[in-house]
Amino acid sequence: MSESNIKDMQQIVSLAKRRGFIFQSSEIYGGLSSCWDYGPYGIELKRNLKNKWWQAMTFRSDIVGVDASIFMHPQVWKASGHVDGFNDPMVDCKACKSRFREDKIDTSAPCQNCGAKGEFTEPRDFNLMFKTKMGPVEDSSADVYLRPETAQGIFVNFLNVQSTMRKKLPFGIAQIGKAFRNEITPGNFIFRTREFEQMEMQYFVKPGEQMKAMEDWKELRWNWHISNGIRPENLRWHPHVGDELAHYADAAEDIEYKFPHGWDEMEGIHSRTDFDLRKHEEFSGKNLKYTDVQDGNKKYLPFVLETSVGCDRALLAILCDAFRIENEGDKENERTVMKFHPSLAPIKVAVLPLTKKLNEQATALFHDLQKEFKAEYDVAGSIGKRYRRQDEIGTPMCVTFDFDSLEDNAVTVRDRDTMNQERVAIDQLKNYLRDRIYI
Ligand code: ATP
Repeated sequence: MSESNIKDMQQIVSLAKRRGFIFQSSEIYGGLSSCWDYGPYGIELKRNLKNKWWQAMTFRSDIVGVDASIFMHPQVWKASGHVDGFNDPMVDCKACKSRFREDKIDTSAPCQNCGAKGEFTEPRDFNLMFKTKMGPVEDSSADVYLRPETAQGIFVNFLNVQSTMRKKLPFGIAQIGKAFRNEITPGNFIFRTREFEQMEMQYFVKPGEQMKAMEDWKELRWNWHISNGIRPENLRWHPHVGDELAHYADAAEDIEYKFPHGWDEMEGIHSRTDFDLRKHEEFSGKNLKYTDVQDGNKKYLPFVLETSVGCDRALLAILCDAFRIENEGDKENERTVMKFHPSLAPIKVAVLPLTKKLNEQATALFHDLQKEFKAEYDVAGSIGKRYRRQDEIGTPMCVTFDFDSLEDNAVTVRDRDTMNQERVAIDQLKNYLRDRIYI
């Protein structure tokens, strides 16, 4: 049996649409550039991914969560440096008026939109924050920003969390939430959009302990992606050196994934020093120092190790990695299968009665499974067609209820990846599924 992997993004875009994972936003109006809506299977996948991240972060005693508001005091973005420095260098093609990020294209090559040569303007800074007005009075004091990262919601709550939770260093604060960036060139499906979700964790440590924390978190984060079923050969590290290193960081490395458009960032791990807390102290006038009772009540600003992953980007990597076409070109035997890790699969189990005549008993089994598993019931079409449909949405197991089931109280369970079939007693079925899903 041959198996081919993803070749270009279009394969994922069309499967995502055909099978109800992701739709273009406002499609009936012609769509809105770079905006996407998660459909029924997409949102299940996304929820499973977020839950898995949340569990990896907060099911340990040194990390707690927050959910900060998207709008924050405008001073936050002055302190963080976003108002003055959150810019990308933008160039225009004078011939076709297209705009590009100068650091993402070769400006000595022809314009990728119209082919004109030597027509690019000099680069100029473009601030990526979306600005809007808060309240009914249209004066400048009401200017607010849609947050371009979730991290600042964590920094401004550092003392609230530390004191109410009685946390001692080292400890972390985790958050999942929307972020907004007016990207110059969004694209590659959900890779770069203007509205996206981040899963960020800031780990506060004693100054001097940040490099050890960085090594620990690098390993944990790499392993987390592997635990999502990503094949290790499609991941690599990209250390930031020279100009790439942000002004606030003393070390940074990205985890890159081999996307169909090439290797690109999926997660950033940044040692952010005490930059953010220091700036917030300065701008707010509040003392944000930590009192180290274990070290003679010394007062200092902790250093911060950040892990920041785009939920949508990680999800795109999971879609790309899971996508396989088996026996491509062989009409009889070709199948497209999404080999999701079972813990992430949108639907865990499908109940497929052999015929409608078995509906009553098969539905009773389905309802029982639904109490624990996200399950689907399908009676339409040949059993082969129904298997293919489940393969395309990545359902790890299909349960066929046949006439023998009425006699032997057993069902046939078909495995998505091996297509092996096994007869399993109905009273053992939940255990059988648990063993294969919670891995
Ligand atoms: P890039 O270089 O791709 O613009 P970045 O280095 O600015 O990304 P960070 O600010 O470190 O990204 O954000 C952390 C994570 O948030 C990224 O690793 C990525 O997964 C995600 N992310 C950032 N910008 C976007 C976007 N426009 N669309 C989707 N995800 C994004």
